[in-house]
This record gives sequence, structure tokens and C-alpha cells, in this order.
Amino acid sequence: MIVACDGEHNLHVWDFVTGRRLREISGNRLSNTWLEISPDQTVAATIGEGRGICVIGLPTGRRVAHLDTGGGEVLNIVWTPDGQRVLSACADGEIDVWDIRSGTCESTISGHEGAVTDIRVSCDGKLAISVGEDQILRVWDLRDGSLLASYFTYSPRYKWMFRREAHLTNPRADGRVVLGTSDGHLHFLRLSGSPMATPLATAERPWRVAAGAIFEERGSTLDAPCFEVGEAIPGNYDERVTAVCPWCAVRFEPRISVLECVYATGALDGGLAPSLQLPIDAWDDPRLTDECCHCRRPVQFNPFVVDGSAYWDR
Ligand SMILES: [Zn+2]
Repeated sequence: MIVACDGEHNLHVWDFVTGRRLREISGNRLSNTWLEISPDQTVAATIGEGRGICVIGLPTGRRVAHLDTGGGEVLNIVWTPDGQRVLSACADGEIDVWDIRSGTCESTISGHEGAVTDIRVSCDGKLAISVGEDQILRVWDLRDGSLLASYFTYSPRYKWMFRREAHLTNPRADGRVVLGTSDGHLHFLRLSGSPMATPLATAERPWRVAAGAIFEERGSTLDAPCFEVGEAIPGNYDERVTAVCPWCAVRFEPRISVLECVYATGALDGGLAPSLQLPIDAWDDPRLTDECCHCRRPVQFNPFVVDGSAYWDR
């Protein structure tokens, strides 16, 4: 059986072997743009501009459930392997976990900055893997929604340049998954069982960009895309030193001991790449350990500040 949506209000069901069209399903009031068939192939979950998730029986087209997202836009959906739940990747940066039998949102997972553009579930049903406009792959424990790991597809310094889509393949049983990002890269990754080490964060004195500002791309080098500021863009430095939490993606001010250490390295002066000049033990200074003031998880700081890492005023 092949099921396809036509971007309007219709789903089409074909017999895969004969190529014969079995059914056209219309009138579910959703402008369907995407569908995912359940693991037992008895129902399909559809999303579209109708801004809800509709679960329909196959091949009858009978509506089994409607998951009300409250007007929130859903960009992608995935079934858990047991067919009991659907996870939805939302434009507001959240992942909702839906119980199909009750039709209710069981829990919400937060942490992405910007829209979540793709979501997958590991073969054992224990992990959710998501990517979004922030171009960070995150691995979640589906039992409690806790974040287990983050994978940055680029230097966080350039993250503001890549507010675009990213997509994933279904993870294989051995944990392999492929991540495609809109800068043209494919990342071949493997989920491993080791717990996440304390993640590194970089203190930044960011360049604040006004909402609605437009950047023009001039081309790119291998590791540093080159952008030009468009016209009429008011920008200014934020004199506060802040960092993005690698766990929850919320920007926070590191505690004073971190800044003391960074100042002690002299990394705030000179305009040279400080990481090349610092002795290797500078990274082990105990003053560089901190915790995010939002999610209270441990963070290890780099012993320098990055100047001019821009972020959007949101
Ligand atoms: Zn945090």
C-alpha cells in the first residue's frame, strides 16, 4: 500500500503491487502536507496547514482521532515503534508527545531555539532525536523528556547564520542516523550508550541584531560562510558577557568566577585567536565550571570570550 497526500485536502491510496488506486480520501478538513503511517500500517497521522494532527484509518479514511495543537503549527511527526504515541515537531520549538488512544498531549519537550524541523524515535522506542532551525541535533530520553546529548553541526559562533531547516533519517537498529543540514552538509552519526559529558560553553560578547534585519550571503568558505550586512540594519554590541546553554539553549550570564578566569587569561584583549595562545591547562581551571541558571545543569566554559557572535533579538 502506498499513501500520498496531494497538498490540498486529499489522500490517495494505491496498491503497491498492482499500481491500482484503491481509494481517495477527502474531506478531513486538513490541507494535508505530510503523513506518517503507523508501524502496524492500520492508521496514518497527517499534518497540514489545518494546524492539527488528524489520525485516519487505512484504507477507509475514517477519522480515528484529531489531536488539537491549539493553533500551533506542526512541521513533522513520527510514531513510536509501539504505535501508541505520535511525537510532533512544532514551529514554536517544542516537541509534543501525543497519546493516540486518549487524543491528548501527554508531555512537552522543550530545548530547541527556533522551530523543530524533524523528529525521529530510536528503534527501541526509548530515545527521541530532533533537529531544528538552531542546527543542533538533540537526543531525548522519552521516559522523562530529559536531554541526553546535543550535537552541534557547526561552531556555535556561527549559529546565527543558519536559521534554516535540518532533517534526519530514521535511526537504524545499530544507532546510525544521517543528519542533513541546509548548508549542504550530511552528518553520519551514531547513537552510543555513553552518558553525556559536561558540555562546553563559550562566553560571548554578542553583537545584537535588530529583529527583521536582513543579511546577504556573499559566498562561503569551508568553515566560515561570509555574510554582508544589508542596508538599514541597526546593530550594536551587547556589553554583557553571556553564553548559550548547551542543554536548554537559553542564553545566560556565567557566574563571576568564569569571567575572572577569562579576564585573567587576557583573552578579552588583543583581538587575536586566544585559544591558540593559551596553555593547555587553561581549560582545566576550576573557576570555569558553572551551571546554567535556567536548567541548573553543569556547564564547562572555554577560557576565553568570543567577540561579535551575533544573535537575533527575539
Ligand atoms: Zn540550561
